[in-house]
Amino acid sequence: DKPYHNKVLIERRLQEIDQIIVVLANKGGVGKSTVSANLAAGLAREGFRVGVADADIHGPNQSRFFGFAGAKIRTTPAGLQTHGFVADGIDHPVEVGSLAFMLEDDTTPIVWRDAYKHDFIHHLIGSFDWGSLDFLVVDMPPGTGNELITLCDMLEGSNVSAVLVTSPQAVAQMDSLKAGRFCRERGLPVIGAAVNMAGVQCPNCHEEFHLFPDAGVAEALGKLDIRKLAEIPLSPDLALGSDRGEPVVTAMPDSVVARAFAPMIEAV
Ligand code: ADP
Repeated sequence: DKPYHNKVLIERRLQEIDQIIVVLANKGGVGKSTVSANLAAGLAREGFRVGVADADIHGPNQSRFFGFAGAKIRTTPAGLQTHGFVADGIDHPVEVGSLAFMLEDDTTPIVWRDAYKHDFIHHLIGSFDWGSLDFLVVDMPPGTGNELITLCDMLEGSNVSAVLVTSPQAVAQMDSLKAGRFCRERGLPVIGAAVNMAGVQCPNCHEEFHLFPDAGVAEALGKLDIRKLAEIPLSPDLALGSDRGEPVVTAMPDSVVARAFAPMIEAV
């Protein structure tokens, strides 16, 4: 038997969740949290009931990306309460569950050894009162270590698939290939990859240029049978949306950058 922290609770929660999308990038800073937030908001715009589980223990940013900076955890007999993000164009709030709600403030560092992280991943899925969801988007920390292994073990037998996030650079490509190989070795189906920070438009002359040289990331992923789902440009609107606490997909649904997420949302 696996050392489940609260096995019964986890099973009960998972029964209420139709599909789990794990958002992965072996490399940090490529926009995994940004993609997770906009994927979740985009699915909510499609009318689905969506939750976002922030598994990025050392950088739990989903609370901030959905406008809950400083929000605190509440508990009821049903479990830890998520904070529900509401916006124009979505019928059901996006339910956000994050470690950030349990910290003193958002500069509090997490200094945990692996056993603690293992328990936290179980609590994230089992102790939060997710309710009934069509999709639970899980924002993973970078890497293919402890948190990811724990999550995969826990979700064995559930309807779970992965979205990879990468940027066009050679280092990001290498890292996304590692994430891709992890998924293959674990039998985790990959829906595809979002290539973030792909191009930027000059605010003056509107010419598009590539800040990061394209190292052939799509071709490299193609060799693992992973298709490109979307190309997201570098965009001040996207960065501003995250800082202000509203995903660009709901804040500015008609913007170029919001529309760039559409094929990925469609594919999921
Ligand atoms: P990760 O989760 O991979 O560490 P984040 O999603 O937190 O990365 O992104 C890192 C930072 O870069 C954030 O401040 C985010 O707002 C910004 N960012 C991510 N993607 C873009 C983009 N396409 N254009 C502009 N800023 C971006």
